[in-house]
Amino acid sequence: MKSFRNNPIVLAGMAILLLALLVALILFARTALKDACGQGNPLPRENAFATPGPTLLDLYATYDRTEAVQIRVYDHRADRLVTMDLEEYVVGVVAAEMPVRYEFEALKAQAVASRTYTLYSVAHGGCHTNPDADVCTNSKCCQAFSTHERMQQTWGDDYVKNYNLVAQAVIDTAGEVVTYDGRLCDALYHACSGGRTEDSENVYANALPYLRGVDSPYEDPMRTEDVEIGFDAFLALITEKYPECGVTEDNAEDEVRIAETYESGRVKTLRLGKTEITGKEARSLFNLRSTMFTITWAEDGIVFHTKGYGHGVGLSQNGANGLAKRGASYEEILHQYYTGVTIGTIRADGTIDFPRETPGSTAAPLVPEGSE
Ligand SMILES: [Zn+2]
Repeated sequence: MKSFRNNPIVLAGMAILLLALLVALILFARTALKDACGQGNPLPRENAFATPGPTLLDLYATYDRTEAVQIRVYDHRADRLVTMDLEEYVVGVVAAEMPVRYEFEALKAQAVASRTYTLYSVAHGGCHTNPDADVCTNSKCCQAFSTHERMQQTWGDDYVKNYNLVAQAVIDTAGEVVTYDGRLCDALYHACSGGRTEDSENVYANALPYLRGVDSPYEDPMRTEDVEIGFDAFLALITEKYPECGVTEDNAEDEVRIAETYESGRVKTLRLGKTEITGKEARSLFNLRSTMFTITWAEDGIVFHTKGYGHGVGLSQNGANGLAKRGASYEEILHQYYTGVTIGTIRADGTIDFPRETPGSTAAPLVPEGSE
C-alpha cells in the first residue's frame, strides 16, 4: 500500500494549507496590533459606527437623488444660509419636531406634513424673517431642525439607530405631499390637540377647507397642565397690559370668566372686567400650553387647567401616535387630520404627480365626525 506521505499531490496540498494558515496568522496579528494601538486606517464616516443595521450611506443609496428638490435653509444658530436636499432637510425637521420613540407610521405622517409645510412655504414667498431663505431653523418662525451635531448631542449612543429610523421614515415617503384640489396644503401641525383640532379661521386668518376641526380621541400622551398664578402676580399681569380692565382681588372671581368658547372647547374670549381678550391673547399672557382651558379659583389665586399643547390646527402629533398604535397607516393619519386631501408626489421641477391611488388616498377619516 502506497504511503500518503510520499504522494506529491498530497504534499503540495499540505504546503498550500500551511502557507494559507501562515498568511492568515500574520493578517490576524497585524489587525490585532492595529486595534490595540488604535492606529487602524480611518474609516469613512458612514462606516465608522459599529451599530448593526443600515448605515447612513446605505439608506441614501436607496433614494434617487436625481429627483431631489433643493431648498435654501437659513440656520439661525450658525447665522448662515445653506442649500440642501429637501429630503435631508426633512430628516432634520422630523428629528427635531417629533420624539423618535413615537410610532413609525406617526414619524412617516410627520415627514409628509413637514415636507408639505416646507414646499408650501417655498411657494408662498419663503421664510418671513429671512428673505433669502425658503425656510429657517427657528421653530418660532418656520420648523425646528436638528443638525447631525445636535442629533448626536440629543441621542448620544443612539444617534445612528435613531437617525436611520427617522431617515427611513423620510425615504419611505420621499417626495410625498398633502394636496387639496391639486395644490399643496398649508400642512400645519401641533403637539397635542387635547381631543379635538381647531378650524383654521379660529386661530389664523384663513378658513382653509382641509384645516377643519376634527375629533382626535387617541392623544398619546394626552397633555394636561394646571397653571396656578397668585393674585398679586395675576393682577400685575393683567393691569399692566389692560390698565382699564378694573379687576381687583376683591372682584376677580366675579369679573374674570370665560365669555365664549369654540365648538372644540377652546376659549374664544376671556372677560377681564371691562376688557375682553381672545383666547390666543390669554394663552400668550399667562404662558399657557393651549387655548383649551378652564379656570377655577384657589385660595391664593387663579388656576388655568389646560388640555393639549400648541395651536390645535391640522395634524396632532400625539394624536397621530395614538392612531398609529391602533394600526393606522401614515396615509390614514394624514386623512384624519387634513380633511378631503389627496397624497401626491412632488417632482424636481415643482410639479405634483398623483400616481398613488392607494386605498388611503380617498378613504374617509378613521374617526367619524362627532364620535367620541
Ligand atoms: Zn422662518
